[in-house]
Amino acid sequence: MKEAMFYSRIGNHKVKCELCPHLCEIANGKRGICRVRENRDGFLLSLNYNRLVAANIDPIEKKPLFHFFPGSQSYSIAAIGCNFRCLHCQNWTISQVKGDIIKGEEIFPEKVVQSALNNNCLSISYTYTEPTIYYETAYDISVLAHERGLKNIFVTNGYINPDPLNHIAPYLDAANIDLKSMNEDFYQKICGAKLKPVLERIKQYYQLGIWIEITTLIIPGYNDNEEELKEIAEFIASIDKGISWHVTAFYPTYQLNDAPPTAMSTLRQACQIGKDKGLHYVYQGNIGQGEDTYCPSCGKKIISRNYFSIDNKIIDDKCPFCGEKICGVGMSKR
Ligand code: SF4
Ligand code: SF4
Ligand SMILES: [Zn+2]
Repeated sequence: MKEAMFYSRIGNHKVKCELCPHLCEIANGKRGICRVRENRDGFLLSLNYNRLVAANIDPIEKKPLFHFFPGSQSYSIAAIGCNFRCLHCQNWTISQVKGDIIKGEEIFPEKVVQSALNNNCLSISYTYTEPTIYYETAYDISVLAHERGLKNIFVTNGYINPDPLNHIAPYLDAANIDLKSMNEDFYQKICGAKLKPVLERIKQYYQLGIWIEITTLIIPGYNDNEEELKEIAEFIASIDKGISWHVTAFYPTYQLNDAPPTAMSTLRQACQIGKDKGLHYVYQGNIGQGEDTYCPSCGKKIISRNYFSIDNKIIDDKCPFCGEKICGVGMSKR
């Protein structure tokens, strides 16, 4: 464990954690909502510091990031915990801390970075759970990763405060951010959080020059109505029409079992809505189709994706058929 970053003492041995918008006020001996930050005698500790519960080599497409060095491998790690309580969390065994036990093997930044390099990864992804709440671990690794020429990627719910995001931004190269709904009620009831900070942070990530893509898991009966999908697409388009939107299929899981799996027709409708709102790149996810990239100018297919195998035709970051610049980072065929 390590003393946490971003907190203040508010008297009586109480502390206020300022890492995420929950702004937990934590009494001595207690933990915040994420259950991985604990007040010990007026010091806030990060209990999951350097304790990893996952380390895998994943295709970058799995994050999903489709416009950031396509076809590359990303060394993907996680520590336990999350500041959300999503009823449909696929990774709930590692995102939700039950009781007091902090699972994880102690692994130091040097070893993580060396493993990424040894396995020909181009980046490190902080993923599976919520990187914000293993901030100190992610920060230390990402500084070292940059020194060794690796990129850093957050796969995140976007629930971080502005200062911590500014602080780590020089080391962050890309992020896939969930925009789970445009409905405040959804964020409160399904995730145990608020919508507005997520919207503000998405804009901040973009303004900081971090490459972002957005993911919306579409849950029938919860966030699949046309108006809401239009609002999400409009929000993304208002930032930049070149931001990819991944609309992904839900399957009943964890505590959300009263909705059916997302129909293909719903995903197709969401894609159409995204395109109607002017988004250049809209993708289906978790369903094995609708993942190819088409040139927004001439309409020709420029990247084919079949699960995680890809055929990239882009040359010099441009469409080989019409020369249109394709949004993204490191888009050319390698
Ligand atoms: S990071 Fe954890 S302790 Fe800090 S404000 Fe967020 S939920 Fe609370
Ligand atoms: S934000 Fe992601 S990791 Fe956290 S509970 Fe929700 S789905 Fe799980
Ligand atoms: Zn073209």
